[in-house]
Amino acid sequence: MTARITLADLPIRDDLRGRTPYGAPQIDVPVRLNTNENPYPPSAALAADLAEAVRGAGGTLNRYPDRDATALRAELAAHLRHGLTAERVWAANGSNEVLQQILQAFGGPGRSAMGFEPSYSMHPIITTGAATRWVAGAREDDFGIDPEKAVAAIEEHRPDIVFLTSPNNPTGTALPPEVVRRLVAAAPGMVVVDEAYFEFARAGTPSALELLPGNPRLIVTRTMSKAFAMAGTRLGYLAADPAVIEALLLVRLPYHLSTLTQAAARVALAHRAELLGYVDRLRAERDACVAWLRGRGLAVADSDANFVLFGRFPDRHAVWQGMLDRGVLVREVGPPEWLRVSVGTPEEMAAFRDALSGVLAGPD
Ligand code: PMP
Repeated sequence: MTARITLADLPIRDDLRGRTPYGAPQIDVPVRLNTNENPYPPSAALAADLAEAVRGAGGTLNRYPDRDATALRAELAAHLRHGLTAERVWAANGSNEVLQQILQAFGGPGRSAMGFEPSYSMHPIITTGAATRWVAGAREDDFGIDPEKAVAAIEEHRPDIVFLTSPNNPTGTALPPEVVRRLVAAAPGMVVVDEAYFEFARAGTPSALELLPGNPRLIVTRTMSKAFAMAGTRLGYLAADPAVIEALLLVRLPYHLSTLTQAAARVALAHRAELLGYVDRLRAERDACVAWLRGRGLAVADSDANFVLFGRFPDRHAVWQGMLDRGVLVREVGPPEWLRVSVGTPEEMAAFRDALSGVLAGPD
């Protein structure tokens, strides 16, 4: 019998050896609050329109999709406003693919990308996957970015790409626009403001979209996975200068966005009042969750997103496991001693509170 081949036996790239894949557990438990999804499924009316759109597209599936997703991009541009048009908007299979295309076009061997940690774990994974060196900058104790220190770090490392996540995952921290403006001015290369959670930011928080005019090296990414409640559709998008989109056309795979994905995303946009209508509820539930956790004497990061980072637990894994044993899945992510809970329905949040209270109360 031949021995089982392991990864180490394969002629895999040296820079991938010893790495761990992205791995949010997908565990089938009653209350799943670990991947920042929107807990509200599409309404029956939306599901019916989706079915109709798929039926309509079904008869054309012998043909490749619109390679440039022109109609969808025009509708996304209209949704984003800020004077955007289809030539300034790009779409791909989730914002992760958008980010990967950015790395393929602007990163690569001999180049580097920098982010300010703790932040979204896929930024370094996508970066190293594109054979690009990852430079880890740091956030402050309150999870904000100190502009002086960040400018100094950018000047020291001169990264080809700077990631700014606002609101940040896993901390929920939104960046003040002055900070974004300063870092865009300081960066020698591209700046990606990852606004996956922008719609959940507290009222009045400006988007980096406002900084696009006059900043051709700025890219703002968004997703339909969170506020739009369409994580299963896999649709991410960006806004940038048309020249940036020309660069992405050089690396994207032809026909990367399937006919069905484009159709589903367009239906979601048509129903955006319904989908985005949940945002207010989720914000209120988030703020209630923050208040409840603080009321229990826990440390809680201010959140402008649909999740809350809380701690500090010397043995966070034990707390995570205790909650899982009570049917509630949260996420072990971010700095040691902290856990992250995605905001769910009122019922799910009640289950979260019960489970955490149970765990903190200790064994019966
Ligand atoms: N950016 C951030 C900050 C995220 O947290 C996520 C998903 N967790 C993404 C991008 C990617 O989302 P998607 O690929 O579903 O658009």
